[in-house]
Amino acid sequence: MQTQNKILNYFTLLKEKSLIGKSYLFVGNDFSVVKDIAKLINCRGVGTFCNGCWDCVSIENSTHPDLFTLKPETLTITIENIREAQQFLRLKSFRAQKKVLVISDAQNMGEASANAFLKTLEEPPKNSFIAVCASKIDGVIPTIVSRCNKIFLPLREEAGSFQLAPVLGFLKGERPYFKDRKEFLSFIWSLNLAIRDTFLFSMGGNNQLLTSGDCEIILENIKINSTNNYLNAMKDILEIYSAGATINENLALNIIKERLL
Ligand SMILES: [Zn+2]
Repeated sequence: MQTQNKILNYFTLLKEKSLIGKSYLFVGNDFSVVKDIAKLINCRGVGTFCNGCWDCVSIENSTHPDLFTLKPETLTITIENIREAQQFLRLKSFRAQKKVLVISDAQNMGEASANAFLKTLEEPPKNSFIAVCASKIDGVIPTIVSRCNKIFLPLREEAGSFQLAPVLGFLKGERPYFKDRKEFLSFIWSLNLAIRDTFLFSMGGNNQLLTSGDCEIILENIKINSTNNYLNAMKDILEIYSAGATINENLALNIIKERLL
């Protein structure tokens, strides 16, 4: 939630300076902040937004006539869907300061639909705000990505519990298999905890999570030999963890391998 607040603060600042851009790509799996940004843009109250006025309530309920959410029923976003969205943007606003178009599941937009949408992204109608939402950035057609400001949202689900076995396997050179992103994130998180505890163990401190046997196995398999290297490795792993919603798994594993093995 903290990151969501930071994003909202950022848009509040942009609003105060009249610097809110016209098109943004939001990457993540919880887009509730997009609605809040729509309220922020259109609430006539002071401060961020009031959540009580007609505009705020109708945006929250998705009934505001100046808010259009494109959420295709089929798996792909069709050219007809795009036309519908463009039609919405062309209409004069009912009462909002900015018309808000939200495109969900943009990772399901094929090349033809993306091409049909490019012109709109390049020259959005005056007083419009376009939020393109996608679960992962590498699924979105690059021409769309390059024309949007990018906002990375925090993951809603926390990583699962600590798992030592895949960490030990990885350090011995095995390529871990993940059935989904959550499992991948859980692995990265576990790896970070394991490195932290091994570091503490090597400093003579108490290990909270790992037994000294596990620490010894880890020490045997990694090439880290100074405090600085430990800290850098942990920093990198944490960065990968925070980019976990979108980062390419192979790339992430290679970076970590480079640091540790
Ligand atoms: Zn309001």
